[in-house]
Amino acid sequence: MCSGRPRTSEIPDPAAETMERRFDAFVGWRTWTALPHGDEWRLWSATRSTVWPACRPLVATCDRCGDPPGADCDCGVHSRREPGRLRPDLTTGDGTLGWNLLVPVLGRVVHFGRILESDDGWRSERAYPAHLYVVGAPGREDLVEDVVRSLASYLVPVDVLESQDRERAGVRV
Ligand SMILES: [Zn+2]
Repeated sequence: MCSGRPRTSEIPDPAAETMERRFDAFVGWRTWTALPHGDEWRLWSATRSTVWPACRPLVATCDRCGDPPGADCDCGVHSRREPGRLRPDLTTGDGTLGWNLLVPVLGRVVHFGRILESDDGWRSERAYPAHLYVVGAPGREDLVEDVVRSLASYLVPVDVLESQDRERAGVRV
């Protein structure tokens, strides 16, 4: 869990009425990989070696423009409008999960700070998970359960996404 008092005051409250419109607009979908980090599991960006901290926002960095999200850059924290449009980062070429010890996680993410919008989704300076779905797989129930328990550290809802739910949502992870 979080060490000391969770710094949730840094994370905007999606339920706050005055912020409602803003969060309707800037909540997208993305994928992570859950990997061991110390004694717990943490979210890692699937395409970069970035650990998402619990209890405080992920702040984007960029070696190229230095000021994410750069208008002429591809930096910032990314999300997609629709879960079905997520890139299959976590699949092998034949569409099956390739890594026995890596656990794919799909979820909604709240953007804040400076935000750039595109047709597909958003890029932002800061972001925090809003709802996590750990991708379940036959034979990995104990591992998935362990990950779900550990990801509770993010203080957001954590559910298991079973294969029939993935098909219904059009998600390819
Ligand atoms: Zn940049």
